[in-house]
Amino acid sequence: AGKTTVDLGEGIRSTLTLLDHKVKGSNVSVRLNLADDLPVVCGWPGELNQVWTNLIDNAVDAMPDGGELTISSEVEHHSDGLTFVLTKIADTGTGIPDDIRDSIFDPFFTTKEIGKGTGLGLDIVQGIVSHHNGSIKVDSQPGHTEFSVCLPVG
Ligand code: ADP
Ligand code: MG
Repeated sequence: AGKTTVDLGEGIRSTLTLLDHKVKGSNVSVRLNLADDLPVVCGWPGELNQVWTNLIDNAVDAMPDGGELTISSEVEHHSDGLTFVLTKIADTGTGIPDDIRDSIFDPFFTTKEIGKGTGLGLDIVQGIVSHHNGSIKVDSQPGHTEFSVCLPVG
């Protein structure tokens, strides 16, 4: 499918619906803070839904005893005149240990049992984000991990 305008809020909501069974089954509660003035971005909606899917999937996996998943999107106006939508996906899970922080985006890197993870999720996420000329960063400490995805508008 071709490049089109993408309503990120709609994509995040439908991704959450698809993952509802896994989220509820893990005792994870969801907080959704989508700004109501979010501009559309230009891109590939199926690819961006894959980003939300992979990040939410990882967040839930990091909270085996339940917790909170917080997703927020807001518009960002940079001083150079460019506009971005910043989406944060935060969990109250295990955190990412410092010694693996530099490896998590590598293809086939996983800390999950065989059959539970392919290690491709974040590699795919990073590829899609760069396909959209965006950026991704992660902040993590025990009990809190947050992936921030910044996508340009227009
Ligand atoms: P997979 O989920 O198949 O293991 P990913 O590329 O999606 O592969 O993630 C790679 C690794 O990064 C995971 O195995 C896990 O160790 C770590 N990771 C990713 N997201 C989180 C998170 N939200 N909390 C803790 N660890 C994470
Ligand atoms: Mg994954």
